[in-house]
Amino acid sequence: MKQLTVETFKAMLGNALRRVKEREDEFSKLDAVIGDGDHGTAIVTALTVAVKAATAEGNELKAVLNDIGFGIMLETSGSTSTLLGAFFLGMGDHAAETVPDAAGVKAMFAGGLANIRLQTKAKQGDKTMMDVLIPAVEAMNACSSDDIGDILQVGADAALQGAKATIDMQARFGRARNYGERSIGHADSGAVSWSCLFAAFAEAAKN
Ligand SMILES: [Mg+2]
Repeated sequence: MKQLTVETFKAMLGNALRRVKEREDEFSKLDAVIGDGDHGTAIVTALTVAVKAATAEGNELKAVLNDIGFGIMLETSGSTSTLLGAFFLGMGDHAAETVPDAAGVKAMFAGGLANIRLQTKAKQGDKTMMDVLIPAVEAMNACSSDDIGDILQVGADAALQGAKATIDMQARFGRARNYGERSIGHADSGAVSWSCLFAAFAEAAKN
């Protein structure tokens, strides 16, 4: 795939909602280890709004991403939706006016990360979703293929590795940090759900 159409992006988003829903309980159980146990519900709610908000017609991916980002920000609250909304808004800000090619897709995902960095001070190693998002976007940017499916798969692989790496980390950000060493031994719920998101994007782009 050399260009990312609105139709393909909507399929990626729909697949993300489907895959996240399948694992909703797993994400909430992980969140309950070092948090309030609502992460599965939070990410399913935010992605449900995202799919509903993606209604713009035609090849205006930039407009669709803006609708998604604002929809999430306006209709949901909490850190999960703030970060997810910022991600889609940042992607929209950096989306080309025309249908994005491989370089355009890389720029979109980098834009999503840049906008999330304005919302959270979490760094790599703090045991958060940033441990997935940062390596995934970096791997996508470093991918030399001009095939968007390849780029998304490289991102999904790095995301999965990033999520696994949070198992051995001690939480150093947010309320989870109060759990100290007890936070070691389980993956971070947000890291795992974001890796599920990247895997679902790659999966949908193949079909
Ligand atoms: Mg929570």
